[in-house]
Amino acid sequence: MQPDRYQPYTLRHLETVPRLKALPEPIRHAVRVVAQVLPFKTNRYVVEELIDWDRVPDDPVFLLTFPQRGMLAPADFARVEAAMKRGDPAHLRAVVERIRWSLNPHPAGQVRHNVPRLDGERLPGMQHKYAETVLFFPGQGQTCHAYCTFCFRWPQFVGMEGLKFAAREADSLVAYLGRHPRVSDVLITGGDPLVMKADVLAAYLEPLLCADLPGLTTLRIGTKALTFWPYRFLTDPDADDLLRLFERVVASGRQLAVMAHFNHPAELDTPAAARAVARIRATGAQIRTQAPLLAHINDDAAAWGELWRRQTALGMVPYYMFLPRDTGARDYFAVPLVRAWRIFRDAFAGVSGLARTVRGPSMSTDHGKVQVLGEARVAGERVLALNLLQARDPAWTGRPFFARYDPAAVWLDDLEPAFGEDRFFFESDAEDPAPAGRAGPGPFVELA
Ligand SMILES: *Cc1c(COP(=O)(O)O)cnc(C)c1O
Ligand code: SF4
Repeated sequence: MQPDRYQPYTLRHLETVPRLKALPEPIRHAVRVVAQVLPFKTNRYVVEELIDWDRVPDDPVFLLTFPQRGMLAPADFARVEAAMKRGDPAHLRAVVERIRWSLNPHPAGQVRHNVPRLDGERLPGMQHKYAETVLFFPGQGQTCHAYCTFCFRWPQFVGMEGLKFAAREADSLVAYLGRHPRVSDVLITGGDPLVMKADVLAAYLEPLLCADLPGLTTLRIGTKALTFWPYRFLTDPDADDLLRLFERVVASGRQLAVMAHFNHPAELDTPAAARAVARIRATGAQIRTQAPLLAHINDDAAAWGELWRRQTALGMVPYYMFLPRDTGARDYFAVPLVRAWRIFRDAFAGVSGLARTVRGPSMSTDHGKVQVLGEARVAGERVLALNLLQARDPAWTGRPFFARYDPAAVWLDDLEPAFGEDRFFFESDAEDPAPAGRAGPGPFVELA
């Protein structure tokens, strides 16, 4: 058995792989039931090298890829269980479909908003929400080396119609960027774009390198391969081709930023992960890191402090701490905003200034990325101070605003404006406040 050969594990491997067969039956049963609704895929590297089996079922990396009973509401769990027992596939499909639609498969207006147009035609493989950055979803990069149990893009992995982003052509991206000179960053995302072979990825990236786009400074690639498959950069047949491609991006004069997703310091424990980081850095690419804060997995300041310290020691740059969006198994993972901010602050206070590049905790809402700055008392009222790190309207960015203190709130929608006001400054009573073709004054606005 070669550990560096990619081998995905799905439901049927629960019955064949010794490690998984040895799991207690109630745990395997829960995986089988929940995986009818939410995607399940792990792989041999995760199972053999990352998970600490002495800590299962509480091991954070186990919880990262193995569905848990608590990820479905008890009534839904029972419904799926009963439908499985009945053995009628059509009935099971109907039950599963109904539950999936109840799990808010497209949060924060992902489908409605932000799809750019070129000559009046929609470009469904792209998203352009913030002025400087265009997201690009290459059609062949819309899967992952394993699936996170908390993934907000889960619907595309279970084949729900109408949700899958997929770009047609790199050409339409280049044409779009030509008309939008303010865009400095293209973020190639998925799924995980690094499931693509190096030559396929090159077919997307190289047109950008040759194109006459003077404003385009940075290509970013979002990936969790450093956690789920670091051998992508070490021993895969095209690992060296991939790194040579990274070098070509850097040599073209543009920055290459690998946006790496890490949830827990345990993901950096293996020699393979550290070697992969070193090889990527040697190409001249930078690695920035981001992750959601998740109950059961990393709702702990010590884990975040350790994560940021180790990332910094390996030459990576901590970037964002997110809060999980309201979709899929969110109830299982949600951490109240006040507690999330305390975890962030306690971790932040214990790391060197070089790791304090991280921002958060942040909610990706319809309005933008809302950061919880912390709790405060203003004019006798206990409040939460918040800030838009990114805003749909650039004029909103960086203006602190205030909500009534609420230790139970888990999302912006749960918060009430402070000081008796009836709405936050960026909310209007219009049904859809998105101003068409807006051109804000720029990212920085004087504090009111
Ligand atoms: C976070 C995000 C970006 C990138 O924003 P940066 O702050 O520049 O990293 C772009 N588009 C969407 C939809 C995002 O959520
Ligand atoms: S790696 Fe990213 S896209 Fe893939 S399952 Fe995890 S969170 Fe979702």
